[in-house]
Amino acid sequence: MKLYTLLSENEELVAVEAANGQMISVETLGVNAADMNELIDRWEDFGGLLKEKLAELNADENAAADKALKDYKVLAPIPRPKQDVVCLGVNYFDHMKEAAAGIDFVKKAETIYFSKRVSRANDPDGLIPMYDFVDSLDYEAELGVIIGKDAFHVSKENAGEYIFGYTVINDVSGRNVQKRHQQWYLGKSLDGYTPMGPCIVTADEIRDAHDLAIRCSVNGELRQNSNTKYMITSVEEAVAELSQGMTLQKGTVIATGTPAGVAMGMNPPVWLKSGDEVCCEIEKIGVLRNVVS
Ligand code: MG
Repeated sequence: MKLYTLLSENEELVAVEAANGQMISVETLGVNAADMNELIDRWEDFGGLLKEKLAELNADENAAADKALKDYKVLAPIPRPKQDVVCLGVNYFDHMKEAAAGIDFVKKAETIYFSKRVSRANDPDGLIPMYDFVDSLDYEAELGVIIGKDAFHVSKENAGEYIFGYTVINDVSGRNVQKRHQQWYLGKSLDGYTPMGPCIVTADEIRDAHDLAIRCSVNGELRQNSNTKYMITSVEEAVAELSQGMTLQKGTVIATGTPAGVAMGMNPPVWLKSGDEVCCEIEKIGVLRNVVS
């Protein structure tokens, strides 16, 4: 299923995409989830019902057309993550080379974990703010993973059972702020720096999360062009390692790192500027398009 958070008639609602591409509010299918966090929280109650009702609807063109939302705006699928987004740093082999060249960064054998404050995830089509104290604005297309069940001390082999679905994240970064403070937290946590979407694709529809094309273009110029198979630490390895002594609560969002091609790795770097259009795309999920304000 492709799940969305939409704004329709000034109300936020959760919707599912019908086979004909139309958006159906989950409430009209008998699923009373106030928002995506609640839908994930109560997936054991709601998941089967939603799947069944959607199948019925898809079998009846007229019913789907009747229920389809006519006027809406697509928001980030999880507009307000319950906790900071957990991020993997330098998790593609090719990005490791450019990142090491661009900043004072020493290759580490262990996975780098950091977090990103996301009080409000930026929407598909939302503006990426240009702050006057950021002189090196950068993009990072990443596969976002959403945890579906509280995960504690999970093995790599069982980690897949804890994954609710996948989305696209742009880990927008103010490089001068990121470097100045040594820890990356501030330079990656500014308001508007986490565009997410356009949807969550449930895990049952992605046969292999490590075989997805991942791209980013700026003003139509392809900058990142890779595949999730080049991740260094896999999604399952990350879930296993993170959960060894820390509960990953359901609804947790993990950003799994970005491939080569960020502005920081170019010589000279071509930073984002006002008016630039950034499109992050992952196969089977969709395109996340944002413009710099
Ligand atoms: Mg990143």
